[in-house]
Amino acid sequence: MALSHKKLFAAVTFVILYSIAGYSADPEFLKISGYTQGTTYHITYQNTVGRDIQPEVEQRLQLIDQLFSNYNPNSLVSQINKSKAPVPIPPLMEQLLLKCFQIYKESEGAFDITVGPLVEAWGFGPSKQKQPTAKEIDSLLKIVGLTKIKLKNHRLIKSDPRIRLDFNAIAQGFTVDFLAQYFDSLGIPNYLIEVGGELYARGTNASGQQWRIGVETPSDNNLLQGEQIQKVIAVSNKAVSTSGNYRRFYISNGIKYAHTINPHTGYPAQNTLLSVTIVASNCTDADAYATACMVMGLEKAIQFVKNKPQLAAYFIFSKPNGEYGEFVTENLKKHILP
Ligand code: AMP
Ligand code: MG
Repeated sequence: MALSHKKLFAAVTFVILYSIAGYSADPEFLKISGYTQGTTYHITYQNTVGRDIQPEVEQRLQLIDQLFSNYNPNSLVSQINKSKAPVPIPPLMEQLLLKCFQIYKESEGAFDITVGPLVEAWGFGPSKQKQPTAKEIDSLLKIVGLTKIKLKNHRLIKSDPRIRLDFNAIAQGFTVDFLAQYFDSLGIPNYLIEVGGELYARGTNASGQQWRIGVETPSDNNLLQGEQIQKVIAVSNKAVSTSGNYRRFYISNGIKYAHTINPHTGYPAQNTLLSVTIVASNCTDADAYATACMVMGLEKAIQFVKNKPQLAAYFIFSKPNGEYGEFVTENLKKHILP
């Protein structure tokens, strides 16, 4: 999800949080929410700490924004993108970069944070919508590829000064994990943290049940978050992330251009997958793998998740007759509510 104009396009992957009315355990459950990284956040937690923790949450959100937001010209990623010289990298960014290298390798380049110039060229960055020519795409592909950047002695080295990073496919998941660690350090036993539709659910909700998460119907006219729900899944101590192309896209000459870019071709991913939901032990992984699967397309993504038993997956795709098709891994079935 983007640290970005997501607010304008609305979150691609909004997941609906079901609040169950009625019985509330003691101490009470509180809700906090606000804006961050061009999108919204919502947190529900059991107030075992007995004080307002929103200022501390916001402080942590700002720290992440300072590192990873392409929309903040002073952020570290903006500095990296402008820089010709190596840039010193703090531990938090190094940690995420190492994760990006890992998932780039595992996904055979489907997940690639060096897609920045392509994302911008296709009009999904801070600049306006436009359509690049085949020639422009060819020339941009020369500066795309994670092997073109290196980490050495806690410094990031770009092999070409024009290389630009875009953490939007993983940063919101990382933010969720960063906040979850904070909530764990406070000993809060039950909480749900959601940033731009990516989330982590700890323990139970106020009714003592697993947290219920709605996965949206990926239809192009599903413009209001939570308006159309395809499935409800119940989770505890799990992260859930959805990537989709049903909200952040534009149509030009009858062709739909969505915001997930295939780094191998330079074009927006064109395949039958409409949305990918990944359930994992942490939200950084769930977020990045969901984007990677969207790029791979249905068949490859099915093989990919089957080889990763630590992931549970739910794919919605379009069938030749225009109906929705669904693929659900065995380990996801137990999470689905009737
Ligand atoms: P998500 O909503 O998590 O799937 O992230 C999509 C966002 O990640 C896009 O809006 C781009 O900013 C960026 N992005 C697009 N394609 C890729 C890709 N193949 N690998 C990594 N990031 C991407
Ligand atoms: Mg993602």
